[in-house]
Amino acid sequence: MVLSAYLDYNATAPMRPEVLRAVTSAMAWCGNPSSVHRSGRLARRMVEEARCRIADLVGAEPDQVIFTSGGTEANNLALRGVEAESVLVSAVEHDSVLKPVADAEIIPVGRDGIVDLDALRALLNKVKKPALVSVMLANNETGVISPIRDVVEVARAFAAVVHCDAVQGAGKIAVDMVGLGVDMLSLSAHKLGGPQGIGALVLGDAIRLKPMLLGGGQERGRRAGTENVPAIAGFGMAAKLAGSELASFAGEGVRLAGLRDALEARVRGLVPETEIFGLSVARLPNTSCFTMPGVRGETQVMALDLAGVAVSAGAACSSGKIEPSRVLQAMGVDDEKAGCSIRVSLGWQSGEEEVELFLEAWGRLHARKASRDAAAA
Ligand code: PLP
Repeated sequence: MVLSAYLDYNATAPMRPEVLRAVTSAMAWCGNPSSVHRSGRLARRMVEEARCRIADLVGAEPDQVIFTSGGTEANNLALRGVEAESVLVSAVEHDSVLKPVADAEIIPVGRDGIVDLDALRALLNKVKKPALVSVMLANNETGVISPIRDVVEVARAFAAVVHCDAVQGAGKIAVDMVGLGVDMLSLSAHKLGGPQGIGALVLGDAIRLKPMLLGGGQERGRRAGTENVPAIAGFGMAAKLAGSELASFAGEGVRLAGLRDALEARVRGLVPETEIFGLSVARLPNTSCFTMPGVRGETQVMALDLAGVAVSAGAACSSGKIEPSRVLQAMGVDDEKAGCSIRVSLGWQSGEEEVELFLEAWGRLHARKASRDAAAA
């Protein structure tokens, strides 16, 4: 019997054993990838092997991959490194896209969390050119998948550069940079079973980037600093494993979507008045965001934690402080409802037992609320 369930993969995913092995064996090796001797050459080989695997995962060429300290740095580099007169970002972006450019124009989203293409067109008509548009591949809270190809089509009519934060999408759904048509793509290893503190910006050939970190000539002059070889080796292994899972016929995505759908059906059975966000549109297979009306998200998180179940309320990946979910607010959800929502996100170690543990604890919490309500009536 499972005694605890980690269901917060969108915050960070448990490292896979193969990744742990790749990281520790790289850590045991002493070599600076810039050194020309054998020790350095072997470290360089680890970096370049990882670069190929990451490029493969997103349909890019290895020399397009710039290693960064994570998704946050990749997003900052994309938004601040490209010369643009105006920057447009969707209302549901992660803070690492929303904050780097203080006067960015905000593209609204609909009630389903999908970016409003007419509003994007109207904004592009109005703003100074050249423009940079940033829309995420998949939302961290709701799992809603953006219509990136349509965004690119609108943006191209205005010769705008397009950046896509694919931190939550990569490894969970197929990502093809060429097919999507974007100019820049952000990735983060720890969302796909790799180590924390390593990510990448994948850069289209036509894009000229002003580096944020100056110093040595690492990353072909685009990001100075000795490469984090162990983390990069782990990232490469995580990308390889995620890629082979996505390529398998009855892939991990199908299994997770099945688990997630079963969980949602039971959630609706327990609390018929629940709202599941983004239900009408394409979502990541592993993510579900829903409400228990009348019970604050943070209360749910604490009660579940006591029962050994880890989930998130709102966007928990950056702070630990509780504020109403900006993403749900942008979708037009009122503060009361947004404040009573939680996010369950599944991954490679999640199975029926973990989902059952969640449902038992969540159901108990709801039963306690129902009996309190009945006593008060
Ligand atoms: N973008 C999205 C959509 C995220 O969910 C996150 C982290 O939660 C980030 C960017 C930041 O990535 P990192 O934690 O690697 O800095």
